[in-house]
Order: sequence, then C-alpha cells, then structure tokens
Amino acid sequence: MTAPHIRSRIANEWLEHGHIHEIRNPADIGETVATAVFAEPLEADRAVRTARSAFDFWRRMPLMQRTHILFSASRLIAEHSQSIARAISREQGKVLPEAMGEVQRASDIFAYFAGEVLRMRGEHYPSTRPNTEIEVVREPVGVVLAITPWNFPVAIPATKIAAALAYGNSVILKPSEVTPLSTSLLVETVVAAGVPESVLTLLIGGGQLGASLARHPGIDAISFTGSIETGRSIRRAAAETEAELQLELGGKNAWVVLDDADPALAARIAAESAFLGSGQRCTASSIVLVTPGIRTTFLEHLREEVTRFITGDPLDPEVRIGPLVSAAQRDKVETYLQQARVAGYRMTTGPAPRSSHAGYFVVPHMFESVDPEDTLATDEIFGPVLATLDVPDLETALMIANRSPYGLSAGICTRSLAAVQKFKREMEAGIVTVNLPTAGSEPHVPFGGVKQSSHGPREISSHAASFFTRTRTIYTSVPV
Ligand code: NAD
Repeated sequence: MTAPHIRSRIANEWLEHGHIHEIRNPADIGETVATAVFAEPLEADRAVRTARSAFDFWRRMPLMQRTHILFSASRLIAEHSQSIARAISREQGKVLPEAMGEVQRASDIFAYFAGEVLRMRGEHYPSTRPNTEIEVVREPVGVVLAITPWNFPVAIPATKIAAALAYGNSVILKPSEVTPLSTSLLVETVVAAGVPESVLTLLIGGGQLGASLARHPGIDAISFTGSIETGRSIRRAAAETEAELQLELGGKNAWVVLDDADPALAARIAAESAFLGSGQRCTASSIVLVTPGIRTTFLEHLREEVTRFITGDPLDPEVRIGPLVSAAQRDKVETYLQQARVAGYRMTTGPAPRSSHAGYFVVPHMFESVDPEDTLATDEIFGPVLATLDVPDLETALMIANRSPYGLSAGICTRSLAAVQKFKREMEAGIVTVNLPTAGSEPHVPFGGVKQSSHGPREISSHAASFFTRTRTIYTSVPV
C-alpha cells in the first residue's frame, strides 16, 4: 500500500511546493506512514487573507445552518472513527482503544458546540438616562489561529476548530509537523460535512511556519496548545499584534495517596495515570506523594501494576502502551532514566517490548523515595516514568505539589471528607480529581490550568465563548 501524500490547503487550492517530509511509524521506524509537503512560511499571508474574506460569509450564515453543519461533522467523524484512529496509532503511537477514545472525544466536542451555537446570548440593561436602552452583544473575534501539539492530534485540533467555528470565526489550523496525517483526516472530514474550505485553512509545517502565522497582524486570536517555551514565544508575538491569546501548556501533575485510601485502587489509578498514552498526556500524573501508613502496601500493589503494562505495537490488542512519538522524545526520556539509575532509587520496570520491529519503545519505570528536589520530581518528562515521594502528611504533600511552577491537574486518593475538602481548597491546579485519575477530562466542562500551565480563558464548555467571541456595548436612545 502506498503511503498517503498530504498537503496544506488554502480555500480549494492544495499547496504542492515545499519540503517533503516522511512521517514514520514510531512502532516500526522502517515504515513510512505518510509523506507531507511542509508549506513555506510565506504562505501565512495568503492564508490570512483567505480566512479574512471567508469570515464575513461564515459569521452571517444562519445559526441553524451552522448547527446542522457542526452536527454533521460530529456524525462523520464518528463514522470514520476506525480509519482516523488507525492513523493516530500508526503516526503517533497510542494504542488503538485510546485512539478510538480520542476520535470519539472529537466527535462529542463537535456535537457539544453544534448545540452551543444556539445558546449564544446577549444582555440587556436599563439605562441611567431617559428613553435609552443598553444591549451587550457577542460577536465572533474574526480570524482564529490554532496551533496544536502531537500528543492528541485529533482531539486538540477538534476542540479549537469546533469552538471557533461555532461562534462564527474562520480558522487557520497549523497542526504539529510530527503528526499531520491524522489531523488532516479530521480537517477533511469536517470540510466534507459542509464547513466551507475557505473557512477552515490547513497549513502543515514546523515551528517557523507557526511563528510566521503567530506574528501576522491579520490574526485576531491565537489558541495554542504545546510546550511552555513555544507558548512564551507566541506570547511575545501576540504582544506585538495584540491578538487575543489562549495558551494550554505543560504540567507536572501530582497524585496524593493518604493512609486511609484503598491501596489497590490508589495503585491502579496511579499506574494508569502515569503510563497510559506512554505518559505523553499533559494531565498524566508523574509524581505520587504517599503518606507512611499506606506506603508499604501501596508500593507492593504499584510494583505489580507496573509489571502488567505491556509495551509494543499499538495495534496489538495485548499491548497497553505504544512507543514514544519520536526519537527526540525517546532520547529525552532516556536521559531522565539514566539520571535516576545513577541516583540509585529502587526501580521497577514493565516487561520488555512485545515487538519484532525497531521502534521508540520505552517500558514503564517506577522509582521509589525520590528526592522532591530531583528533576525526576520536578520536570515534565512526558514519558512512562513515575516517581513516588514519601511525605509525612497531607500538609507536606500540598506544600511540595504547590511548589511546582505548573498547575494543570492534581488528584487525591482518600476516604476522608476533611482531607478532600482541604485538598480541593488548597491544591493549586486548574483540574482537581478525587479518587479519580488526573487525566480524562469530559467534553462539556471547562479545561485548563493555573500558574504556568495556562493563560487566558478556559477551553471547552460555555466558557469558551469568552475567548472565541468579544462583546460590544450598544446604547440606543429612542426619542419620544
Ligand atoms: P511544541 O511547543 O514543541 O509544539 C506545539 C506546536 O507549536 C507545534 O505545532 C509546533 O510546530 C508549533 N511551534 C513550534 N515552535 C513554534 C513557534 N516558535 N511559533 C509558533 N508555533 C511553533 O509542543 P509539542 O512537543 O508538540 O507538545 C508537547 C507539549 O504540549 C508538552 O509540554 C505538553 O504538556 C503540552 N500539552 C499541553 C496540553 C494542555 O492542554 N495543557 C495538552 C497537550 C499537550
């Protein structure tokens, strides 16, 4: 079977010129999954002009028509879930059930925003002046630039596109250059559902292309998900152009296990939170803070859990975690593992990879009694690596967890209502879970972190309106 050849698209024109990149299967690096033409950074200008002229038409489309189109997108994504999910597995490396879950989420988000289109509301105020009334109306912001990472190549673009389109904006999407195949399948499915090509531009390319788009003065709002470093450079670009900003960045998410927790449940959640998706989820919990009374039993359960995670080909039904996405990601994780081995922490690892192919496999690793100052306990590693830390009590666990510059998600396992209340009040994280994994957010409620993990209004839910629309206040005097 020949690998698909993917290109950028501005309106109905496919861009044929640019560097051609081979997208390799991270579970079998000899296999080319797709070839992709990377668009030249100078295409940014044409893309912005096209999106600007499409905006006027899209914002005026009758709401019911927009609703129907977004519902059709939801249905079509679900209908094509097998092929899109297989593309995610082969290109990004996550196991097929997780890839199917990701596609389902994309479909759910389109369904959610299809309904949300009809719920846009304005406000009406009495005036302090006679014969005058005041309306506050919500309007789309204009041209939205969405820049997305490789770890959820379908769900994250869907989150941004569905919300932006629902509120009447035109969109330029620049997906990660690492996983362009699955994102382009999503985009073409959405276009097949009726979103005009000129309203949704797809530009495939790397950081340079992203940077030239981010600093373009014709962009009204930028919704970005990715690393803190890239987020900073986009923030600087937006400061020049005065584009609105929504940034979803990294995390170092803590899981706290108290003496009164169920040790088997706590260990299962800890392992799944840390290792599913090969730990490449922004909400994965990679540090566990354990109190002394449960430590021995909890760690016994956890060691056993670690050995149950089979690594290998993501299309093999026995496999629970696939490879890391790239050689660069594998090398970064290996550097942390090497430092941890040198530090001499007690270590448990999962079984050797189940694959006859060369891939970027890293089996799960768990280290015990890690020093809270160690980079293993402080850095976002983005791999299947879990550090357990010994803490005397909840107070100390909160103190250590809150020292992190990140604040995306955090969870606690306990039966104590008092401890739950304290954790909910004092844990500095945008997402807090109780007896549930730190990963696994739902498609109808706000998503985002605090501190360095996020900037700007929340994603998803009705809160998204505060980013994808702006308000105008209109005073009308009616002479009598
Ligand atoms: P990245 O920052 O390297 O790349 C993200 C996107 O930005 C890519 O499309 C890339 O091409 C583009 N880009 C790179 N340099 C750019 C520049 N100078 N200007 C404009 N665009 C540029 O991130 P990644 O490695 O793809 O993703 C992993 C990171 O994403 C992790 O830190 C993870 O925590 C974070 N993430 C956060 C969330 C969240 O919701 N908080 C979700 C998923 C991933």
